[in-house]
Amino acid sequence: MSTPLLGPVLLALWQHGPLPEHELLVLLPDATSAQVTPALTTLIEEGLIESCPDRHGTLYGPAVLCDETIAQQAYARYTGSPRCSGCGCTDTWPCPDGCWWVTPDRCSSCAGRGLVA
Ligand SMILES: [Zn+2]
Ligand SMILES: [Zn+2]
Repeated sequence: MSTPLLGPVLLALWQHGPLPEHELLVLLPDATSAQVTPALTTLIEEGLIESCPDRHGTLYGPAVLCDETIAQQAYARYTGSPRCSGCGCTDTWPCPDGCWWVTPDRCSSCAGRGLVA
């Protein structure tokens, strides 16, 4: 079963979460609830997002124990986007302080740190 929404759902929740599922659907106008629900389940199983009960329903947001770099790398893997070989950021999910491409596979945040990972 393919879940093409893993990348977009992950990004939306890290940038805008915690959100209830119906607000997530507003952010992803091409997605249906039937597609988003299994994507949420997969992302929770992967430890990238977490759900928390709220008096208005269930909210989904970034997993507290998950490093943003891990989520960025998962996003690159799900979407197949070109990513930085140092940190895993992509055009759609740059480093927290912003970055640009110094070489085709290394962003400005990583270029200054030298090439040893
Ligand atoms: Zn980088
Ligand atoms: Zn970067």
